[in-house]
Amino acid sequence: MTPPVTTPPAPIADMLQAGSIAVIGASDDLSKFGGRLFHLLVRHGFDGAIYPINRKRQSLSGLPCYRQIRATPTPPDLAVVAVPRDHVKAAVRECAQAGTKAAIIVTAKFSDAGPEGARLEAEIVATARRHGMRLLGPNCLGLISPANHLVLCASPALYVDRLPRGRIGMISQSGALMTTLFDRAQTRGVGFSHCFSIGNQADLDLCDFLDFLADDAATEVICAYIEGVKDGGRFVEAARRAQAAGKPLLAVKAGRSDCGAAAAFSHTASLAGSYAAFAAACGDAGVVLMDHPDAMVMLAAALTRFAPPARIETGMVTTSGGAGALAADLLAEHALPLSRYAPQTLNRLGAHYAPENAAANPLDLGTSRRGESPVVEDSIAALLADPETGILLCPLTTAPDMAALAESVLQGLARAEALGHRKPCLVVLQPGQVADEARKTLRERGLFYFDEPGEAVRVIDGYRALAEARRRARRDSAANSPAGVLGEMLGGLAGALDEAKAKEVLARFGVPVNRGELAKDAAAGQRAAEGMSAPFAVKPVSPDIVHKSDAGAVALGLATPLEVARAIDDLRTRLSERHPRAEIEGFLVQEMAAGQLEMFIGARRDPLFGALVAVGAGGALVELLKDTALRRAPVSRDEAREMLAGLRVAPLLHGFRGAAALDLEALADSVSRISWLAHELGERFIELDVNPVLVRESGRGVTAVDARILLKGG
Ligand code: ADP
Ligand code: MG
Repeated sequence: MTPPVTTPPAPIADMLQAGSIAVIGASDDLSKFGGRLFHLLVRHGFDGAIYPINRKRQSLSGLPCYRQIRATPTPPDLAVVAVPRDHVKAAVRECAQAGTKAAIIVTAKFSDAGPEGARLEAEIVATARRHGMRLLGPNCLGLISPANHLVLCASPALYVDRLPRGRIGMISQSGALMTTLFDRAQTRGVGFSHCFSIGNQADLDLCDFLDFLADDAATEVICAYIEGVKDGGRFVEAARRAQAAGKPLLAVKAGRSDCGAAAAFSHTASLAGSYAAFAAACGDAGVVLMDHPDAMVMLAAALTRFAPPARIETGMVTTSGGAGALAADLLAEHALPLSRYAPQTLNRLGAHYAPENAAANPLDLGTSRRGESPVVEDSIAALLADPETGILLCPLTTAPDMAALAESVLQGLARAEALGHRKPCLVVLQPGQVADEARKTLRERGLFYFDEPGEAVRVIDGYRALAEARRRARRDSAANSPAGVLGEMLGGLAGALDEAKAKEVLARFGVPVNRGELAKDAAAGQRAAEGMSAPFAVKPVSPDIVHKSDAGAVALGLATPLEVARAIDDLRTRLSERHPRAEIEGFLVQEMAAGQLEMFIGARRDPLFGALVAVGAGGALVELLKDTALRRAPVSRDEAREMLAGLRVAPLLHGFRGAAALDLEALADSVSRISWLAHELGERFIELDVNPVLVRESGRGVTAVDARILLKGG
């Protein structure tokens, strides 16, 4: 028997398709949210029933007013609540009882304003849930849906005659930022399918909107401005879903700095979480994380206008040698390559340029032999057809007839597109009145433009990140789990594991460690050393001494067992002077390991995204260089190799300046194994730190010579 088909609830689609909308707090006072929102809803031609709710008025904008929801001709499908905070709960209750399916609460000062507001917010959510009503907000600017001619937003950005419609869906945890991005985008000819300001996410949250946009036929690319994610696992799932639907997800997240994180928290009361963990999760889920919201929207615009480039090499056509040179510098700073035109392209350009000018990238229109056929159009068409060029960047400066210049760019683009070259063509027009006509020409003909080259370069960098995300998603990341080892051995372990115990766990997981033995005193230490090969190292084992070398407590390069015994006595004396209170459990006598480079491998459990694994320059360099790569655990050996490739110390691993290449394979293997260890420890895991891992020449392996693991309990 086939199971019954259940239609999943679609609260967001329901909202967008509401046949009737009540605006609680509607007025003709445009200084108020309710006044502007009502006015804009009417102005943008919503074709269902609009019920303004206002006790003091008979009618507003020619529509009859109602004193309360119960008085409306039919219960509204959707209600917008824009009344003072203390009236919100009653308004929501009234809607819920009337059978309204969803409400947008614009009013602020709920969980964004302390515990009392949070309590009230929780009560409102509970009321709505009892009646199966869904909520957007509170503390939000509502939604703008050009795809549905629906404006439920009070922003002055919407005082326009026509809403530019595009295929970009936007979700924002800041309403003001959303409407500002919307405004700037529309002045550059970029429109959206839907924009949602999600505010405090008391009920419907970021992931609900991501899921909606991933399935939405009107949306091709998703942009999100994020302050905090409530459920890391769900976010990753939603992002993967968007990726599976072939829709790039671009995100900007506040909180890269501690100050930004604190500001974001007080803004929408969201748990800002660690930016690094979020970035690692984005990498895992194919999200392109950007740091500039305008560039995010422009990349989305480019993705909906052009085919994604098959290669990242950029060709440039410019009206100014200066602007071209500066743009080339910017590309170089982002390590983005310029293209070298193919011979057939040079041939085509030869009609207009001397050979040395034709081969130049940036191609300077000013160096053409003028007076011949249309130089601009031909140059653009030739570079878009060039097989070595993936993206065309056109920094245009002021010129006598800018509108004609824009027209030629459009002609060149049209010619290339007619031949199937749908590569990104990114036009930069610096702000200034000379180019007003040119901007208008481009906008009206459906080509967006940039205000400055830096933003276009960020977009090209975004293209590279997107290609990388797609490559990672395609690759089978079935990692090599050494599963099953943990269960039996970890049963009794809890709390902080010292070096000896931590290394035992690592060894069971296949991470090479050096031989060592715990000795109570000098005599035992000497005996232990007799069973090992020289040279030796001695370190105290003490819960009170975490950084042993800082305490002057690591003895290295001891040649004989007798020296080991002496070192133990010395260390005991020194520690009793410097750390009289430290509890010394004994001394770890171990073999010295050789290595050309010290790396560290670490892992920690993030409250939102689970276990993360890090690798970077180790030993004393950890703090100094802060050169680390972070990913969600577990990672396969391939992924670990990619992490290593992105490090600043990567050249040292590959054999810098004639030095032998180091054992990258063994290092990647240990990173993968440690990531699995962290992953499989699950809830019990807090953090682990293996520092240093000594890396030898290629084929000679690695050795972890120091380790610490922190588990719950104990
Ligand atoms: P801590 O990190 O607590 O200061 P470590 O055990 O990491 O102490 O030792 C400090 C440094 O001594 C290491 O970074 C490494 O350079 C060196 N070292 C420690 N143990 C060994 C060993 N067994 N073989 C080679 N070098 C070692
Ligand atoms: Mg160490």
